Amino acid sequence: MLNFEVTQQSKKSKARIGLLETSHGVVETPAFVPVATQATIKTLSIEDTRETKSQLVISNTFHLHLKPGEDIVAKAGGLHKFSTWDRPIMTDSGGFQVFSLGFGRDLQVGKVLKFFTGDEKEKIKADKQPKFLKITPEGVYFRNPINGAPLFIGPRESMEAQQKLGADIIFAFDECTAPLSTLPYIKKALKRTHDWAKICVEHKTSDQALFGIVQGSHHQDLRYESSNFIASLPFDGYGIGGDLGGTKEMMCNILDWTLPYLDQKLPRHLLGIGKIEDMEMIIKAGVDTFDCTVPTHYARNGIAFTSEGKLDMGKRVLLDDGAPLDPECECKICTTFSRSYLAHLFKAKEMTAFSYLTFHNLFYFNTYVERIRERIKRGEL
Ligand SMILES: [Zn+2]
Repeated sequence: MLNFEVTQQSKKSKARIGLLETSHGVVETPAFVPVATQATIKTLSIEDTRETKSQLVISNTFHLHLKPGEDIVAKAGGLHKFSTWDRPIMTDSGGFQVFSLGFGRDLQVGKVLKFFTGDEKEKIKADKQPKFLKITPEGVYFRNPINGAPLFIGPRESMEAQQKLGADIIFAFDECTAPLSTLPYIKKALKRTHDWAKICVEHKTSDQALFGIVQGSHHQDLRYESSNFIASLPFDGYGIGGDLGGTKEMMCNILDWTLPYLDQKLPRHLLGIGKIEDMEMIIKAGVDTFDCTVPTHYARNGIAFTSEGKLDMGKRVLLDDGAPLDPECECKICTTFSRSYLAHLFKAKEMTAFSYLTFHNLFYFNTYVERIRERIKRGEL
């Protein structure tokens, strides 16, 4: 069950305020979606996660398929009962792992390409296969990264797993292409993504909301083709996936080439993008929800996001700083502990250091988006 209502459309940009209603509660959009890969936010209790103002989380089908397996989760009554997280959940389709375990790993690139000094010959041509997996029209053959056993995931397997996991919102299986793919490769991958989208629609037997994923890399004509194709299928919302170009401008262009061709009444989720410096731009382009590992991943590396910029807890000078982590933040970490104490915990490698910083970073990101929502409501953005 999913109802989405756009309650306010900005007159200054394409930003919109909306309410995403699921059987596990209502999400006010635009919303940041923390990543709970293994049905938990790393280092946080479920209770703490609720207190970070997180409205919706995204879990990873591929990882949960490997362990504990969707049958174990289904037996427990689905992800909500299994984890006791009672707010909405999304699961991704596993398509991103095709990329991250495939060409992403071979070429050591993320989906946003920063530097590439390699040879033109290294670019991914139409018939090339990644080293560690095989992509076919039916799906993807892997080796299980845990025990090396052969593994196959295609659109049917992804749907079956996601329906057993029982999230509120599930995604169609897709192929996320690497930034270094040639045009013929991207075209071939896009055809697969579209074929798989149809199969996912046909195999849906649950009342979960199914989002179709638009791909097409950084090519305007392919994004246009993909948006129109995905919009022609009976999806409940959309994911914007894939390589979004190397620059902020390109990301902005891609959203402009995509979002206008989708059903405007349906929610759109930007997959795997949500750095603090990108948030305003993607929201102004009309994105409703977006997930990103930045706040949680950085926290575990000792980086706190604050109103004064990023703070590296490994810096010696912080050991002598009695100020709150972020004097402007109202979270329970900032109103309780000093930078000095937190820097000490980091230096001592105490586990609480990771959970305190994760808590603050998530609270900070969610508050940041909450303020953007307030600015849209006031007509400022
Ligand atoms: Zn804080």
